[in-house]
Formats: sequence, structure tokens, C-alpha cells
Amino acid sequence: LVSRDIKEEDTIIRFPGTNITIGGRDLAMIAGPCSIESREQGFACAEAVAKAGAQFFRGGAYKPRTSPYAFQGLGEEALKIMAEIRDRFGLRIVTEAIDAEALELVAEYADVIQIGARNMQNYSLLRAAGRKRKPVLLKRGLSATLEEFLMAAEYIMSEGNYEVILCERGIRTFTDHTRNTLDLSIVPAVQRLSHLPIIVDPSHGTGKRNKVTPLARAAVAVGADGLIVEVHHQPDKALSDGMQSIYPEQYEQLFHECSQIAEIL
Ligand code: PEP
Ligand code: MN
Repeated sequence: LVSRDIKEEDTIIRFPGTNITIGGRDLAMIAGPCSIESREQGFACAEAVAKAGAQFFRGGAYKPRTSPYAFQGLGEEALKIMAEIRDRFGLRIVTEAIDAEALELVAEYADVIQIGARNMQNYSLLRAAGRKRKPVLLKRGLSATLEEFLMAAEYIMSEGNYEVILCERGIRTFTDHTRNTLDLSIVPAVQRLSHLPIIVDPSHGTGKRNKVTPLARAAVAVGADGLIVEVHHQPDKALSDGMQSIYPEQYEQLFHECSQIAEIL
């Protein structure tokens, strides 16, 4: 089902009641904090990304943290805050479901269900997301091959949900100038084999604020259908991923530069 041999034309995901698409001509721009930390923080970040021109707001309610003692997310309270944000700013909401229980709530509140890198091969969760009637943003596993990535999408589609967005977010690396190695070559590789849209996450892909915009530009130049970027109004106070979160002014600049690149393609 993921293959271009089965479906030649690109998949375009539409959002009812809007002219927003993922996989169409416009770049899908998703931005927001790693985690929703409070109503005030969520609104401040959302206002900033809406002003810059983003169509989607990202924010974690359930966080897959390396340490069990680190901030784990506000859960349903965060989902409620994001539902308010959708009403207030007209942004579509993207948020991660870390397990079957979270999936039920995320599918109720969000516009796009995110499956994180750590769950790319959680086949029961993929199947469950495939039974939901909302688009699924599937992140590439921490060291997944292209074949494994596409087969993970196949699990979702095999249950009848054909609205899958692939996301390159960097793979495990041996070096330390970057958190992960952002593998931009997977964008044209996916586009050759599959009709599904593919976006890029330069935030988790680099882990460092000063590398986010250059890699975002490169991702658009290589043909990505969109970007998911962590933006925080006070990154030094963020409860997760502050080091890679960019400031609202930086996001405005990123948005402007990436739109210009997309235009000449
Ligand atoms: C995130 O988007 O905040 C996240 C945890 O991403 P990943 O699954 O790519 O690590
Ligand atoms: Mn994050």
C-alpha cells in the first residue's frame, strides 16, 4: 500500500473545513514547543507560530523521556489546552500518542496523531493508529532503515488508514557535534518508492538551536513536503528539549527563508 507501484500519484492529505494540505503544493509547516507545560506557555508559543504563518501546532502531552524522572507531560490537560489553541488560532493540532491508552485520547482531541521514533516498530500501536480516522505522522525509528520505515507505514495502512505522513528526524550517530545525523537523503529515496508525503524534523535531527534553520533550508531544498520544528518563547525555561528549541523570531526567519526556497522549486 505504501508503494508507488500501487498508487502512482502523490498522496495529498486534506483537513476538512480548511484549505490546508500535507503533500500538496504548499509546505506543511508544523511548529510549537516540545511539551505543553502550562496554558500560558502553550498559548504564547501558539501565538508566535501562528503569526509566523504555520498551519499546524505541535505540543507534547505524553512525552517519551529518556529518564523516568524527567517531565512526562501534562496528559489530557495538555490535550485540552491544545483544543483551545485550535479554536483560538485556527492551527491544526499534532501530538504524540506514546501508547494505546494515550492513543484513544489523542485521536479524540488532535488533528494529526504522532507516532514517535521510539515507537516506530511498536506494531500493535501502529495497527491501533491504523484503525483511527485521523492522519498519522510517523517518525523514523532511531536507527531504522528505509525498508523498516516504509513497512511501519504499511502496518498503519494495512488497517485501512491511508493518511500517513513520514517524518525524518535523524538517526543514531557516533559523533557529538549533533544529537542525531539528519538523513536528508531519505527524502528523495522515499519519494522514489512511495506516494506518501515526507516531512523533516531539523530540531530532533540536530539537537542544537543554531543548526535548526540551516538544516530546515536544506530539507526544503531536497524536496521535503514540510517541516516540524520546536519553537519556545522561553527556551531556557523549557521542561524538555530547550537546547534545540528556537525563538519565535528565529522561526519567523526560518519560515520566510524556507518559503522562498520552496517557491523556486
Ligand atoms: C518529539 O517530537 O518531541 C519527539 C519526542 O520526537 P522523536 O520521537 O522524533 O524523538
Ligand atoms: Mn522534543
